[in-house]
Amino acid sequence: MLRALLLYLSERKTPQRLLTSLPGARRLPERFIAGETLEDAIKAIRRLNAEGFEVTLDHLGESVTNPAEAEATCHGYLDVMERLRSEGLRANISVKLTALGLALDESLALQHVKALVDRASKLDAFVRIDMEGSPFTESTLRVFRLAEAPRGRLGIVIQSYLRRSARDVDDLLAYGARIRLVKGAYKEPAEIAFPEKSDVDANFVDLARKMLASRIYHAFGTHDRSMIGGVLDFARASKIGPDEFEFQMLYGVARKLQRELLQQGYRVRIYVPYGRQWYPYFMRRLAERPANVLFLLKNLFRG
Ligand SMILES: Cc1cc2nc3c(=O)[nH]c(=O)nc-3n(C[C@H](O)[C@H](O)[C@H](O)COP(=O)(O)OP(=O)(O)OC[C@H]3O[C@@H](n4cnc5c(N)ncnc54)[C@H](O)[C@@H]3O)c2cc1C
Repeated sequence: MLRALLLYLSERKTPQRLLTSLPGARRLPERFIAGETLEDAIKAIRRLNAEGFEVTLDHLGESVTNPAEAEATCHGYLDVMERLRSEGLRANISVKLTALGLALDESLALQHVKALVDRASKLDAFVRIDMEGSPFTESTLRVFRLAEAPRGRLGIVIQSYLRRSARDVDDLLAYGARIRLVKGAYKEPAEIAFPEKSDVDANFVDLARKMLASRIYHAFGTHDRSMIGGVLDFARASKIGPDEFEFQMLYGVARKLQRELLQQGYRVRIYVPYGRQWYPYFMRRLAERPANVLFLLKNLFRG
């Protein structure tokens, strides 16, 4: 119930204006976001790299409303890739296609993805396309395919809450794609997404097994110890080594678990978001864990 309400609010402009204008609002994103500027993000990446973590960097922003904004997002990411390279940081980028104009014109988003992949090839870098809500599933997968990028330059995300995902994973594996598997963070109707957590979890483990068996290098984006256990059990039984896949977790979430996996010799990549447009990302993080709402209330009224 609370999850549905928070996800509903995450897509609304009026609560966004209200929440971001309250006295304690500036402190809110610190829990989940590296800061508002690229410099803040670079500082966080340096620290995480020094601790042994890999990083994927997300410049917050989604659903641009005109082509100029999409172009600016693309150029921003090109500069970010250059900067990561020149600083010698172990970090790649994660992008949302609606920030590159997907909702305006699919070919525009494709053109920007190709520009990012070209630069990634020159810099020996990697671009991950995040997966957004179901209105964009089909077009996101299409843009990924049409980009015709080498496997080592472009990857995609699959959400285990979607009923269609088993089919999508089969298609993507046949194509040789690198996948990040997650449970899914958006508000979806029961016709297309499993409403029960137990089904989402069971599907996650099934899809993870298929992905591991492909021997393509994939990522498992979760903080759920049972999902991680499912991945590790299958990997051990199939003699798949720790360098053949990676775990990914969100900045500021389950930090103890992040360190544990690293200490056990697994590769862990932290998803680091930064930027001013933190509201929708922040609300999705609240929706994932009701206890986070207490954190929101405590901070909001501290002035
Ligand atoms: C690296 C990465 C990239 C992602 N990319 C996408 C994407 O492209 N598209 C998409 O739809 N979703 C994405 N997600 C979000 C994902 O879909 C889930 O909503 C999120 O990971 C929570 O699911 P979980 O697997 O951690 O399991 P859950 O069952 O939700 O959580 C398991 C446990 O993890 C902890 N936990 C989880 N979330 C939080 C939180 N916000 N705050 C505090 N503790 C928490 C709690 O202890 C919880 O009990 C991504 C997640 C990660 C880690």
